[in-house]
Amino acid sequence: MFLGTIEEQWKLLEFLLWSHQDNNEYKKLLEWLEELASGGEGFEKTFVDKQERGVCGREMKHKEPAYKCNECGVDGGCIQCVECFENSDHTGHDVKRTLVSGGCCDCGDPQSWSPKGFCKFHQGPDASVKNIR
Ligand SMILES: [Zn+2]
Ligand SMILES: [Zn+2]
Ligand SMILES: [Zn+2]
Repeated sequence: MFLGTIEEQWKLLEFLLWSHQDNNEYKKLLEWLEELASGGEGFEKTFVDKQERGVCGREMKHKEPAYKCNECGVDGGCIQCVECFENSDHTGHDVKRTLVSGGCCDCGDPQSWSPKGFCKFHQGPDASVKNIR
């Protein structure tokens, strides 16, 4: 009986110790996973946000006002949405306000719009990479 009890006590102690350790490990594992998950999400969010900031690409509605710049637009079809235009510097440029029938804002796309006419939010697709480095 006595040995049995000791054995049972040891088993209980062992069980408590192990379950205690397991709980700690489990908590640590959870914390670690949470950290990893939020860290990964944080990085992805930052990265995606910066990517989105690089180029506007705003889809223009029919008859939405937009701006064309003779110096910045690569051709006559390139436009900048009002928000982008108001946040960019076209001092001394030949700028025309227009109503577009569709398409999307070219701000931030160096193949359609001169980088000197990018707004402060869209500094081109390479800008995000430069920021991370
Ligand atoms: Zn825009
Ligand atoms: Zn822009
Ligand atoms: Zn311009």
